[in-house]
Amino acid sequence: MRGLPRRSRGKIRLYVGTAAMNGENRRRKTRTVRIGGFAHVNAVDVGGDSPVVVQTMWKDRLRERDLEETARRIAALGDMGCRVLRFAVPDLNAAEILGRLAQTVSMPLVADVHFDHKIALRCMDFPVAKIRVNPGNIGDMKKVRAVLEKAADKGVPIRVGVNAGSLPRDVAEKVERGMSRALALVETAERELAVFDEFGFADVLVSMKASGIADTVSANRIFAERNDAPLHVGVTEAGPPIVGAVRSGAALASLLAEGVGDTVRVSLSDSAENEIIAAREICNAAAELAGVSGGPTDRLLRGGVKVISCPRCGRHGFDTHGFTSRWLARLYALDADLTVAVMGCEVNGPGEARHADIGITGAGNRVLIFRRGRAVLAVSAGEADAAFADALEAARIEASPDRPATGKT
Ligand code: SF4
Repeated sequence: MRGLPRRSRGKIRLYVGTAAMNGENRRRKTRTVRIGGFAHVNAVDVGGDSPVVVQTMWKDRLRERDLEETARRIAALGDMGCRVLRFAVPDLNAAEILGRLAQTVSMPLVADVHFDHKIALRCMDFPVAKIRVNPGNIGDMKKVRAVLEKAADKGVPIRVGVNAGSLPRDVAEKVERGMSRALALVETAERELAVFDEFGFADVLVSMKASGIADTVSANRIFAERNDAPLHVGVTEAGPPIVGAVRSGAALASLLAEGVGDTVRVSLSDSAENEIIAAREICNAAAELAGVSGGPTDRLLRGGVKVISCPRCGRHGFDTHGFTSRWLARLYALDADLTVAVMGCEVNGPGEARHADIGITGAGNRVLIFRRGRAVLAVSAGEADAAFADALEAARIEASPDRPATGKT
């Protein structure tokens, strides 16, 4: 029994007082918190110099009879770049099912718990890798202590998640009297952190989410200047896919380019797979922005597939929309650094496709497949998917001969 007040397990590196703060880089190096790394569960480090971690949340109620299929989908999400996956755990029955799932998958799973500390305690009887719970939401300090003691004992970090829509009453009243929502989020998060400090529990991450872009950016900037807890960044209730991706991109790419944010979740009214694609692209965009502004890029750069596709117009001889929607998830699951061009016609198609590692384009009533700038195959539209799959697998092996296939092409 390790218990409190021990600083709980994990690579905790404090950089208080050594913040790399200047006009362009607001990032204060955070401590590193390890998620998982026990039993069969992967270790994922968040914070410090670790790469920014992409995560998402399971969209459905967990059901016992779906566990096999759920585990299969979790593996596919892992192939796409998801490193941590969160589940809502509304009751003890859900805790049991999540626990059984956690015994079978290597991706670190997170239990999202509200109000009932017994649910958090039960989850930690299984290899559940992180708990999201707010002390203020549990209330009774004896119950909070029980959760923190068990978390310290098991090496389970905790994320405090503050949401602009559910501020404590006194803080909400301050907002009504003129306090900015961003400061209200920070004050609430720091109030929760004070409880962890009181118990000597350091394996804690923080999120402050609002549906507004300005509130999200300001709150995270202010927090990062004053604290060293790793930040989980996201825009809450961002919206339907296009709206949510744009809003999340505007907020999160700015923050990440400044070095603020250690793990990203994009919240969309859409699939977990598309949340992962959006989060990866936001990290890529942030790396490009950081490259321009002199910000830190190392934590954001990641390999993988870059997809270029034409918007389609009246000249198209190949349905780029249908093709990309059929192939997108599979392309993002490829463990290879490849540029893929999907073009509609011979006006711009061959030119773009020639600059990609692999390209496909319409040309009259045929579809051309390009490899490294050369048209290697002309097929009918009906044969295009199969021909592309073969060419893609050849390109993948060439790019990453030692890596196993993950894209299931
Ligand atoms: S590549 Fe061809 S089909 Fe696609 S937008 Fe350009 S001109 Fe139109």
